[in-house]
Amino acid sequence: MDLQRLQRALSLEAELGFTDLRGREQTFSQFLQSVFGQDPPAGWTLDGEERRRWKELGSRYRLYPQLELAERQHLVAETRRWLDRLRRQQEQAQSGPPSPALPPPKGLSLEQPLQFLKGIGPKSAEKLAQLGLHTVRDALYYFPRDHLDYSRRVLIRQAKVGETVTLVGTVKSCSCFTSPKNPLLTILNLKIADKSGIVTLSRFYSGRQFAQRSWQAALERQYPKGAVVAASGLVKKGRLGLTLDNPQLEVLGGEGEDPERLGKILPVYPLSEGIPADLVRKAVQLALPAAALVEDPLPEPLKRQLQLLDLPLALQQIHFPKTQELLAQARRRLVFDEFFYLQLSLLQRRQRYRAQAQAVPRYQPARGELLDRFYQILPFQLTAAQQRAIDEILADLRDPLPMNRLLQGDVGSGKTVVAVAALLAAIQSGWQAALMAPTEVLAEQHYRKLVEWLSQLQVPVELLTGSTPPAKRREILRQLQTGELPLVVGTHALIQPAVQFRNLGLVVIDEQHRFGVEQRAALQQKGDHPDVLTMTATPIPRTLTLALHGDLDVTQIDELPPGRKPVHTVVARPGDRLQVVRLMEREIAQGRQAYVVLPLIEESEKLDLKSAIEEHQRLQEKVFPQFRVGLLHGRLTSSEKEAVIEAFRRRELDILVSTTVVEVGVDVPNASVMLVEHAERFGLSQLHQLRGRVGRGSDQAYCILMTGSQSEEALRRLKVLEQSHDGFFIAEMDLRFRGPGEVMGTRQSGLPDFALASLMDDQEVLQLARQAAEQLIAQDPELQQWPRLRRILEERQARLLGPALLT
Ligand code: ADP
Ligand code: MG
Repeated sequence: MDLQRLQRALSLEAELGFTDLRGREQTFSQFLQSVFGQDPPAGWTLDGEERRRWKELGSRYRLYPQLELAERQHLVAETRRWLDRLRRQQEQAQSGPPSPALPPPKGLSLEQPLQFLKGIGPKSAEKLAQLGLHTVRDALYYFPRDHLDYSRRVLIRQAKVGETVTLVGTVKSCSCFTSPKNPLLTILNLKIADKSGIVTLSRFYSGRQFAQRSWQAALERQYPKGAVVAASGLVKKGRLGLTLDNPQLEVLGGEGEDPERLGKILPVYPLSEGIPADLVRKAVQLALPAAALVEDPLPEPLKRQLQLLDLPLALQQIHFPKTQELLAQARRRLVFDEFFYLQLSLLQRRQRYRAQAQAVPRYQPARGELLDRFYQILPFQLTAAQQRAIDEILADLRDPLPMNRLLQGDVGSGKTVVAVAALLAAIQSGWQAALMAPTEVLAEQHYRKLVEWLSQLQVPVELLTGSTPPAKRREILRQLQTGELPLVVGTHALIQPAVQFRNLGLVVIDEQHRFGVEQRAALQQKGDHPDVLTMTATPIPRTLTLALHGDLDVTQIDELPPGRKPVHTVVARPGDRLQVVRLMEREIAQGRQAYVVLPLIEESEKLDLKSAIEEHQRLQEKVFPQFRVGLLHGRLTSSEKEAVIEAFRRRELDILVSTTVVEVGVDVPNASVMLVEHAERFGLSQLHQLRGRVGRGSDQAYCILMTGSQSEEALRRLKVLEQSHDGFFIAEMDLRFRGPGEVMGTRQSGLPDFALASLMDDQEVLQLARQAAEQLIAQDPELQQWPRLRRILEERQARLLGPALLT
C-alpha cells in the first residue's frame, strides 16, 4: 500500500468537491475500498481497535457513492485525520519521542506536515487538521475570507459619531444572554479596552435557535478575557456612551498579541469553533516562504499579456498583503486561475469530443423543401431573433462537426418554432430526430403543436411517454428502429434501452436544466455523435452560462413576438384581496381565464395537498361560486393532470388552482391573470416564469404577487418584478439576493464551487480567462507545450468526466 498515493487521492477528492473521482482504472471509492481491504502498510503496528477501524473504513467506502455530499465530506475528513494521526504515531514509534527541533526551516517543502513547522506542536497540528490543513501546501491554499485594514484603526477615545472605524482592544468581559424583555432576542455584550479607554459593544441575534444557553455559552467562549479583538462599524451614541452599531468582530489573537506586528492588512480566515484565529494565522505565516516553491503553470507570455502576478507572489500577497493594491492583484491572479482551468478543461473536452466524431457533412444546404413549406404554413412571421437563431443552428448543422448548442430565450420568446425548424432540417436531410421534454404535459403540448404543423407537411410524428399503451409503444419502437418514423417526441421514456433509432441525427432537449447530465447523455448516445440542441427558459445570467456551459455554443432569443404588452405586475398585500377578486371577476367575465399558484409548504406533500384542496374549495364555494374552478396538484397522475389542463385549455374551467410550478411550460394563450400566493417563497426567476404563463397574446395581462411578509428585503425583491420584464436582469438580481447556489441548485447544476472567485463580482476576469483559454486551445489543443498546465487539467479531468458525456 502506498500511503502517499492514498493521501493524494483523499486530498484530491476533497479539493475537487467529493465527486467520487474517476481515476484511470477505478473510482476514488473503489480505490479506498481496496486499500482498506488490504493490510496496513508493512512495519506499522496497529492495535486491535485500530485494525477494526481500518477494516471498517473499507466497508464504509463501499457506500460512498450513495452518500450525501455532507456525509462524503465528513467521511473523507475523518479518514484524513485518522491516517494523519496513525502516520505520526507510527513515526514516533519508530524514531522515539519527537525531538523539538525536527525540521530545519531550510528544508521547508510543500508536502511537509504542518506539525513539523517550528512553533506548531502535535496539539496545534490536530486542530489545524480539523480545518483540513495537513501540509504546508494546504495552508498556502487556505485563502482568507476577508482582510482587516488597520488604516481605519483609531483609538477608542478618538472615535467620533458617524465615522466608520476599526477599534482594537483586549476583552475585559463578555456575556451573552436572552433579553429579559423579549425571549426571542439574544444579546452579546462585549467590553474591550485599549490604552485610551474602554467601550461596550453589543450584537443582537433574533430567533429561537439563539435562545439556547449552550449556543450562548459557545459564543462567549469565542471572546475569552484577554483576547485581542478588532471591531469595525459605524460609531453611534449608545446608552452607555459611544459604541459601534452592530459591529463586525474578529478575534486577532491571545493576550499580548500585537496584531500590527503582522502588517497593516491582516487576513481573516474561515474558522470553526475551538480553533484560535491566531493559530491559523501563525501556521500560514510559517508556511508562507514555501510559496516560492510552487511552480507557476501559466505560460509567461500569457501572464505578461494579462498582467497577472506570478503565482508564488500572489500566494504570499493573498495572505499578508503589503498594500491593498497588491491584495487586489493577488486576488485577481488566483481568481483567474480558478476560472482559467475550468474553461480550459471545458474547451478541451469539446475539442476532443469533436475530434472523435466522424467529420462527415450530413446536412444539405439550409433551405430545403420541408423548411420552406414550414415557413409558409406558420400562422405568424418569425421575429428577427428567431430567424437569427435558426440561421445559427442551420449553420451548425451544415458543419461536419456535431452541434452542441444551448438555445436561451425568455418565457414566451418562441423557442418551440426554432426547435421545429431544426428538426425539419434534420429530417429533410434524411435523419431521424427526437425531442425530449421533462414532463408528460409538456411533451404532449409539443406533440400537439407538431401534429398541427407537420401533418400539413406529411411528416409523421409520434408521442412516447410512460403512459403510451404497450401496443402503441411497440409499434413506435419498431418504426424508430426501421427508420420509418422520422420524428418522436417524448419524456424520459425516450431514453429507455429498448428505444433504438436507425439513424438519429438530431436531439432536442427542452427545459434542459430539468434533466440530469446522464439523462441528456443517454439520449445523445442513441445516435452516433448526433447534433444536440438544448433549450432553456430559465434565463441564466451570462456569467453563469460561461461557468456552467463553457463548452456549449449559446444562442439567445432576445426579443419577444410583436404586439405583446408587458404583463402588468403588482405586489399585493392581504388588504388588497378584494381588489384582486374584482380584477379576476372582470377578466373572467370578458372570457379570459386565471391561474392561482400556491407555493410548496414546508416541503411536506401532505400539507401541500391539504392546503391546495382547501384553497380550491374555498375559492370555488366562497369566492367564485359563479365560476368553474379546477385543481392541479402533484398527486395527480399524468393523465389526470393532462385532463385538467386540457379542460382549462378548452375553457371548460375559468380558474386553475395549481400547487407547484411543475408545469412551467403550459401554453394557454387565453389566460390573462396569474395570482401567486405567498410570493415571497418563490425565487424571482421562478416568479418570472410563472408570469410568462400569461400575456401570450396581444391583450393586457396581469400578474399579482400576493405576500403577507413583513420583511423589507422580501418586498424589495418582489418589487424587482414590478419594474422589470427582462428575464436576464431578473436572474441577475436573483443571483444578487440569493447567491448562485440557491438560484441554480449547486449540486444539480454542477455549478463549480470556487474558493475565491465570485460569479457576481468577477465577471471581467471570467471573460479574460475564457478568451485566454480559447486562444490556447486553438493553438495547442493537447497543451503539448505546457506540461504543467496539462498536468493540472489531467487532475481535473476526473471530476469533469460526468458532464463530459454530454458535451
Ligand atoms: P417559449 O420560448 O416560452 O417556449 P413558445 O415557443 O411556447 O415559447 O411560444 C410562445 C407563444 O408564442 C406560442 O403560443 C407561440 O405559438 C407564439 N409565437 C412564437 N413565435 C411567434 C411569433 N414570431 N409571432 C407570434 N407568435 C409567436
Ligand atoms: Mg417552451
